[in-house]
Amino acid sequence: MTWLFDPPAPAALPIAGRGERFPVRRIFCVGRNYAAHAREMGADPSREAPFFFSKPAEAVITAAEVPYPPMTSDLHHEVELVCAIGGEGADLAPATAAQLIIGWGVGVDLTRRDIQAEAKAQGRPWDAAKGFDASAPCGALTLGPLPDPDGAIGLTVNGAVRQSGRLGDMIWSPAEVVAQASRLWRLKPGDLIFTGTPEGVGPIVRGDRVEATIEGLSPLTFTLT
Ligand code: MN
Repeated sequence: MTWLFDPPAPAALPIAGRGERFPVRRIFCVGRNYAAHAREMGADPSREAPFFFSKPAEAVITAAEVPYPPMTSDLHHEVELVCAIGGEGADLAPATAAQLIIGWGVGVDLTRRDIQAEAKAQGRPWDAAKGFDASAPCGALTLGPLPDPDGAIGLTVNGAVRQSGRLGDMIWSPAEVVAQASRLWRLKPGDLIFTGTPEGVGPIVRGDRVEATIEGLSPLTFTLT
């Protein structure tokens, strides 16, 4: 078979301590998975099952410089634990879903908050708010079990703390999030699942240096250009 044009190389993430890279297939993100963040976005955290939106695989960026996206004047940071899926399965219970997670990383769900607010008001989809180019900065994956399921998760901008929480503050655990995703899609190796952000989301501007950390995982650092 010949292609009309060369297919692009897959998006990929480095793996801590390994030469291989993790090929990214799809990116699913869960919304409002920390109670305090749900409240800061004007939602009631007690009544909501996990819901998902997605970003294109090509939204992954591992570069030290991340371009400020067009068509926004209110770009927000959201630090998130990222689950790397290494197996295939659908309609899974949480215990089985947990076995599909082969690695973990630190990601930032960049969000054009002004476009998202308009989409919410108009009942429109979130794609332009969430799934734009370079909207998913990610650090190197760490393979194996999560080092500390209640570890600290945080984000600083130019050294100032903006987000600070614990993974244990999640409303739905990573296994429960992946189980729910598996009811909606047949999960396959290469899928990434962003598990939601703690409170403290806010705007970042060109020149800002962002450092996102989760206890036991490779930190993610980038500068907006
Ligand atoms: Mn998010």
